[in-house]
Amino acid sequence: MRPAFSLPVVVLVFTTAVGFAQQGSTDDPIGARARRLHAEAIVIDTHVDTTSRLLDPAWSFLDRHQPAERGAGGPGGRSTGNAVDLPRMREGGLDGAFFSIFMSNTVTGPQAVKRSLEQIDAVRGLAVRHPDTIALATTAAEVRAAHAAGKTIALMGMEGGHMIDDSLAVLRMYAALGVRYLTLTHSVHTNWADSSGDELPTHDGLTAFGKDVVRELNRLGVMVDVSHVADKTFWDALDVSVAPLLASHSSCRAISGHPRNLSDEMIKALAAKGGVIQINFLDAYLDHDLYLAQEDRRRELAPLRKELEQKYPGPENGARRMQELRRAMAAMPALPRPSWEKIVEHIDHAVKLVGDEHVGLGSDFDGASMPIGMEDATQLPKITEALVRKGYTDQQVRNILGENVLRLMTRVEQVAREMQAEAVRSSSRAPGAVAR
Ligand SMILES: [Zn+2]
Repeated sequence: MRPAFSLPVVVLVFTTAVGFAQQGSTDDPIGARARRLHAEAIVIDTHVDTTSRLLDPAWSFLDRHQPAERGAGGPGGRSTGNAVDLPRMREGGLDGAFFSIFMSNTVTGPQAVKRSLEQIDAVRGLAVRHPDTIALATTAAEVRAAHAAGKTIALMGMEGGHMIDDSLAVLRMYAALGVRYLTLTHSVHTNWADSSGDELPTHDGLTAFGKDVVRELNRLGVMVDVSHVADKTFWDALDVSVAPLLASHSSCRAISGHPRNLSDEMIKALAAKGGVIQINFLDAYLDHDLYLAQEDRRRELAPLRKELEQKYPGPENGARRMQELRRAMAAMPALPRPSWEKIVEHIDHAVKLVGDEHVGLGSDFDGASMPIGMEDATQLPKITEALVRKGYTDQQVRNILGENVLRLMTRVEQVAREMQAEAVRSSSRAPGAVAR
């Protein structure tokens, strides 16, 4: 347990402000404007995978850590380094983050529910233990209030429909605890939705139950997240959802052909319904050459993967197999990684396609290999400065940094209120019916 607000954080914030002032002002008015804009705007990242660290008693969110040496916690990244903690959020002007509630698809059933609750507890615990510094937010209004009070904002998103264990009741309890988006799938199909990361589609998008999940998310005021899902699942969700959709951490397929990214057609349809694409910083989602090189490497490693599956069979040996695969990959020459500027290229592409009101930031910090120059949250002001130098207005930049996702949250909350009111009205018309 640590003091609510440690001295190093205060010193850090002060020295950063001095640093900003020293760096810019007189000889570089654009740089100065960008720094001021970034500091004043509400900056929200809709996807960080820092949550598992919170469960490690030896790791403190209030301490400053170093970025991972290669990638930020992704494949090949060193487990000792990471990208997000309180001091670095403050230094990078990152006001709020959606902490991902996540476990791989090999964890299912009651075990997945238990582990989800433990992760939710860990995120909620941040605000409970450090109420002067950190606030949990579950609505756009709470985000604005916490920002006005100078607090760092913790939000929660659940990355993978497998964690609801096929139960709308479990989903309702996650919502009650503050989860504000559900990514319909991770990289494997759930029992009710196809993923972009799995082999052949098995459900042709969403099943009837999958559509019920989307309607229930609408009713609960939880954003429907289409990152990771198969294209057909995206179109089904767009069709069924009353509220606009979120892509919490996806980039543009027109620039990198990775199936995790959204095509221009999908981005246009998402935006037409009021949704937002939050650009993912993962290097291969940004860079097409790296994506292709990784695909080649995957094919190259396929025989070894097969051999390991025979040698160490079953889900219980998954970690062992991964360890051996990582060793083999580490022995291969490193693939050239893109620069952070690719992030700006993706933002600009989406803005040119659908305007600045439908684009934002979903870094995937601590869950992905980052481009060069975006190793941790302290690097975020570079994006603001690059947008300003491209000629973006202050309002456009503010929209991208956080206002768009806040508007989406507000709309999703409004849809939920309307649906709940309608349910009450219709249940009063039908005696015996129960509205939950
Ligand atoms: Zn993800």
